[in-house]
Amino acid sequence: MGKSLAVNAGSSTLKFKMFDMPSEKEIASGAFDRIGLGDSNIEIKYGDGQKFEETTDLKSHEDAIQILLDQLTGLNIIKDFKEITGIGHRVVAGGEFFTDSAVITDDTLAQIESLTEFAPLHQPAAVLGIKTFRKLLPDVINVAVFDTSFHTTLPEVNYMYSLPYEYYEKHKARKYGAHGTSYRYVSQRTADFLGKPLKDLKLIILHLGAGASIDAVKDGKSFDTSMGFSPLAGITMATRSGDVDVSLVQYIMDKEGISDIDDMVDILNHKSGLIGISGVSADMREVEAAQKDHPRAKLARKMFINRIVRYIGSYIAEMGGLDALVFTAGIGENSITVRKEVTDELGYFGIKIDQEKNDVRGVERDLSADDATIKTLLIPTDEELMIVRDIERLRK
Ligand code: AMP
Repeated sequence: MGKSLAVNAGSSTLKFKMFDMPSEKEIASGAFDRIGLGDSNIEIKYGDGQKFEETTDLKSHEDAIQILLDQLTGLNIIKDFKEITGIGHRVVAGGEFFTDSAVITDDTLAQIESLTEFAPLHQPAAVLGIKTFRKLLPDVINVAVFDTSFHTTLPEVNYMYSLPYEYYEKHKARKYGAHGTSYRYVSQRTADFLGKPLKDLKLIILHLGAGASIDAVKDGKSFDTSMGFSPLAGITMATRSGDVDVSLVQYIMDKEGISDIDDMVDILNHKSGLIGISGVSADMREVEAAQKDHPRAKLARKMFINRIVRYIGSYIAEMGGLDALVFTAGIGENSITVRKEVTDELGYFGIKIDQEKNDVRGVERDLSADDATIKTLLIPTDEELMIVRDIERLRK
């Protein structure tokens, strides 16, 4: 019995959820924004719909974590830090080394730091979060949970790029994927929902959030995934381009007088995708609402749907079949129209949803029409729950 904390540290943010374990009941959640940028917002939800909010100046992640710990006892969420049985940290890059989540030791921490080149914006924040919790709560176990570890099962043929082989040998240049913690959770939930062993299923999971990716799961393992060396690859996202011809990037840099590749990568990461095409918003709800009046919002939606359909088709071919198509994350769980428009394109495969069953948001449900030959499911994801389950599994 105890309380476990799932922590997600970004470059200027810190999000957390606290669970009572092993009951897995969520007892608090919150976010710290604008760390190091002035006018930071703190929001902590707890109890029966209670909320703590404050705007202050958080100079560092250490400031944020200190306030979080103070408020955990101050707001009576826990009585004593001894109740905390583990802290799980989301880490973006685990490279080829971390095939599973790992208990933090000096060695694992050094290994995580050595992977910074694979996620230069995210890895330092996670490392800082881990170091700060270790310093402030030295007796509590810390566990790193990697976005990439679920994808370490990708077959070589799927993770290699068609580049000179020596770049893989010398620099580990390959596909690593992302959203692995979500895929791990959703694939197991899907198997439980269908009452079949995961290893016997072929699944395509659509993790459609601000960051969006698609995973083909075969024999219970990640078999192919739409994100690549970094989360920039794959389908159209909120602000990320997804797959682009590299020669086009060179052409645009030339035409626009962009000399620094970092500036171009920034455009591909932050000014492309839904916002880049629509010019209206990066938020799918707003793009949906704007479709009637803005042809480019309509185009952005159509491209988003098209890229999803394209990956689904190729993954069905690669796996040689499909048992279930699964929608998850913000858009997948909540956009009734995205689910309809994606599945409308897939009738050829025997994928068909029932419009009444599809009229739902954020609940686990079989959406399939009676005459569908491949199931379509809505399975809400829960990455934080997966993180605290990993703590339980690894602390024994
Ligand atoms: P996530 O990153 O998983 O939190 O997902 C965020 C995305 O989900 C944003 O693009 C939101 O606009 C989208 N989203 C949330 N609710 C809805 C909704 N009711 N309809 C369409 N999109 C939604």
